[in-house]
Amino acid sequence: MKNKYQDILSHLSKDQIDELMSRYYKGEKNDVLIEEYNINIKSVLLVKTFPVIIHENRLCPYCSTPLFSYRTGKNSSSSTIPEQYCQTCDHEDVYICNCSKCKEKREEKKINKIKSEEEILLNKYCDVQPIPYQNISFTDSLFILTLLLPDSELRCINNYKEENILPHQQNTEKAILKMIDNKILTFNKDDLINNNQLINNHKDVCYLSSEEKINFILFNSKLEINITRNGQNKTDNSELKLLLKTDLLLSDINYNKEDILESFLNLSTFEAISYLYDKDFFFKIEEHQIKNLRDSIRVLLKTYTLSETKGIVNTCYKDYQKNNLPYKKNVFIKNIREFDKKMKNYDRLSWQPRCLFSMIFCLLILKTEHDYFQENVFEFFEQYYSR
Ligand SMILES: [Zn+2]
Ligand SMILES: [Zn+2]
Repeated sequence: MKNKYQDILSHLSKDQIDELMSRYYKGEKNDVLIEEYNINIKSVLLVKTFPVIIHENRLCPYCSTPLFSYRTGKNSSSSTIPEQYCQTCDHEDVYICNCSKCKEKREEKKINKIKSEEEILLNKYCDVQPIPYQNISFTDSLFILTLLLPDSELRCINNYKEENILPHQQNTEKAILKMIDNKILTFNKDDLINNNQLINNHKDVCYLSSEEKINFILFNSKLEINITRNGQNKTDNSELKLLLKTDLLLSDINYNKEDILESFLNLSTFEAISYLYDKDFFFKIEEHQIKNLRDSIRVLLKTYTLSETKGIVNTCYKDYQKNNLPYKKNVFIKNIREFDKKMKNYDRLSWQPRCLFSMIFCLLILKTEHDYFQENVFEFFEQYYSR
């Protein structure tokens, strides 16, 4: 920035100025020099009246004129590097320059960053080739239909957060993420862009890590079902809903029996342990423990009804809580598996399906409301096939 003291030595010749500077840097007192050379300035500002240093090899990026800097005082350290300024425009060679050109450049950089992030998001989550309808598995078909049911006429799905699609929100989110990975679900373009811009302009959310930002953008954007019937365009939601419903009603003809049984067992396992989600049992639990728990439930389901299995989980959990430490989650899981050797009584829990997915499974596939809660899951399934 140009100072206002640069014209003060105009009454002196170049030689006089050189001499003045030389005497100043040799250490003569400012007051003596000011009086002798008849300079109208406060003592401390004398150095500011000296001619600037022009850096011929350092040019302003905007107007290509050499930058200049002021002389440093005789007492300042030799390692001090004076700031450099442009002679013609307002540019300053400092960390954050506030000249109009630098401001513009920063703004442009920010916009470019947002745009390139957008491009990555759009490529990964929006502009994805639709998946052929005939490639969709039984479980995925049922899950999609469940997603479509609350608001079937809309192209976008945005209410999966409010609905109990699977027992507990955590399971729903996991299933949604898996379908996004498999490209069956994509995000609505406009919504994704809006959320990306929001996160870039909003001070509070800028402090999130990049992974948290992506999660924020994804989980606040509307989903679209990325399935095609004609091999090109995404099939409309209402058409897809009708199609899925018709095909699922005839599931015993249209889908593999083993796939349906597997889906049924997974669902029953989910239902049986849903109580534990309410109790925060899954907080700080290892992946292998979850697997063991599921395996234990599968063992129980061979002997007990789903309603009884739920009761056993409940009873073992109460025991686990009562005994607290060192009674670990592992022991709890083992106790569930070996239930009949350890205890005789168990509580019975609700016979109602916990989630939308179960309800659809009962009504559409098993063609009952919730009878299978009171029967052995395997036997019930066999009966369904022998009908
Ligand atoms: Zn310049
Ligand atoms: Zn600048």
